[in-house]
Amino acid sequence: MVPTRTHRTIRKRSLKPEREKGRISVGFKKIEPKNDELRIIPLGGQEEVGRNMTIFEYNDDIVILDMGLQFPEEDMPGIDYIIPDVRYLEGKEKNIRGVILSHGHLDHIGAVPHILPKLGWPPVYASRLTLFLLRRRLEESNLAQYLVSHEINSADEEFTLGDYFKVALFEVTHSIMDALGIILQTPQGNIIHPGDWRYDTTPVNGKPTDFSHLARWNTQEKPSILMMESLGSTKEGSQLSESEVYKNIKKIIEAAPARIIIATFSSMVERVSQIISIAEGLGKKVALDGYSMKMNIEIAKKIGYLKFNPNVMIDIKNIHDYPPNKIVAVVTGAQGEDRAVLMRIANGDHRQIRVEKSDTIIFSSSVIPGNERTIQRLKDNLYRQGANVIHKEIMDVHSGGHALIEDIKLLIRQVKPKYLLPVYANHYLLCEGSKVAESDGFPKENIFILDNGSIGILNQNGFHISQEKTQIQYVFVDGLGIGDIGNVVLRDRQVLAQDGMFVIVTTVDSRTGRVRTSPDIISRGFVYLRENTELLGEVRKRVRAIVERKTANRGPINWIYLKDEIKEKIGSFLFQKTERRPMILPVVIEV
Ligand SMILES: [Zn+2]
Repeated sequence: MVPTRTHRTIRKRSLKPEREKGRISVGFKKIEPKNDELRIIPLGGQEEVGRNMTIFEYNDDIVILDMGLQFPEEDMPGIDYIIPDVRYLEGKEKNIRGVILSHGHLDHIGAVPHILPKLGWPPVYASRLTLFLLRRRLEESNLAQYLVSHEINSADEEFTLGDYFKVALFEVTHSIMDALGIILQTPQGNIIHPGDWRYDTTPVNGKPTDFSHLARWNTQEKPSILMMESLGSTKEGSQLSESEVYKNIKKIIEAAPARIIIATFSSMVERVSQIISIAEGLGKKVALDGYSMKMNIEIAKKIGYLKFNPNVMIDIKNIHDYPPNKIVAVVTGAQGEDRAVLMRIANGDHRQIRVEKSDTIIFSSSVIPGNERTIQRLKDNLYRQGANVIHKEIMDVHSGGHALIEDIKLLIRQVKPKYLLPVYANHYLLCEGSKVAESDGFPKENIFILDNGSIGILNQNGFHISQEKTQIQYVFVDGLGIGDIGNVVLRDRQVLAQDGMFVIVTTVDSRTGRVRTSPDIISRGFVYLRENTELLGEVRKRVRAIVERKTANRGPINWIYLKDEIKEKIGSFLFQKTERRPMILPVVIEV
């Protein structure tokens, strides 16, 4: 998955009660492992897309795969992202032999700066590009100097972690370069985990994807478990080959009458590199724009993954030195992100580029769920300005990084695992992944769907899911704070976002207990005050009555009780009149 999220729309929906019940835990229940069994414990990624992190435990050895973040759901206003809950590892830090990262997308590496310091910086194993992207992220938090890393340069490398894990690797095709799949060999069996994957039978780099070599990990003595990312399990067919995408992009660039603007994911270094070579072949110049686009291309160039004639590249500032039909701009913002380049171009805020009727604009990207409306508006805006806009619905100018139904069937036929664990997607997609396997003859009794916190156990009797579960809470990251935003703060934000706020300021004479002046009312996001004078008059009258009733018998006044009373009574009055529940903040001033 390529995680990029634009601003969120807030719908009228509150936290589901069952979620609240399960997630607010007082005291964490420790679960002690049994000897000589392999335990697979996903901390995230089994009930959502994102925050992928899985623990593999065998006696005193722990190996972790991925440490990703999740972008917030619509009912989590103000939250930047969510990271895995790692309480299971508290007290076990010394057992962690290594953290393996499958590839450089944020839903696989994004939580490292938050979690690795807590775990005492165990060594990280990843490919070159993944480590570079990780280091860049750690530098942003001033943590890069603590990273202990082992770069994996070839999929043929093997290494041991602790006494019970031996790691082998394999190359995986995905929408980012340098993606690795892992094979964890343990005394009870072998785990095969491709991370995020797809097939490409005619790839640009000439190495067709083939997973049939993985069948050898399933033997009589040691069964194999395939942990299969199942994000595309509801989509028919097979994923389109990248070379098909390039062919189409080339056709468009050749036919374009003037300037071409291509928006794509900044992590798709290979695609950008293809665009550069197409442009070079046609004698055009390429200008990159967008922080992450420039950064990723710079990293890829630095580590030798990207080679191109430097004369092809020009600075975006200099595009007007060339005729429009010589220009290809490759930019960020295909998801309609607020501050990204394409949005600025569309809004007329970009310094060098204004949309021209002769422009050809390509969205070489898919729509990430949650961004649909924003992208629609962006497209409307560009169409309105007369540009020729080309996107996936019109022509195959993008292929995704994830396997589709036919790919899933092929993977299972090639790998021939004993057990199948669909992973890395929402629950329904895991179920669909399971159905695809069953429809192709895979035995249903050997398919297991884990939730976050479930404990899968492989021992001499085979695989099963334990009755016990480790508790998993949401851990929110908000600005600089980690985990300091609890459900209470979140609920406040939801109330504010949905129904606004209503502040009642009452001045009470402490000698007489009488309300001195008419209560002041400040309302934001609730009702328009000027149009609701009658309602406000009624609220003032009621507040006065509540205060004077409470203070009538003079004795010490319980201010907290008084405020609660105002909150509750006025709250239900407002609900009765407006069917809204604004947050009510009573302020009582004693004079
Ligand atoms: Zn990915």
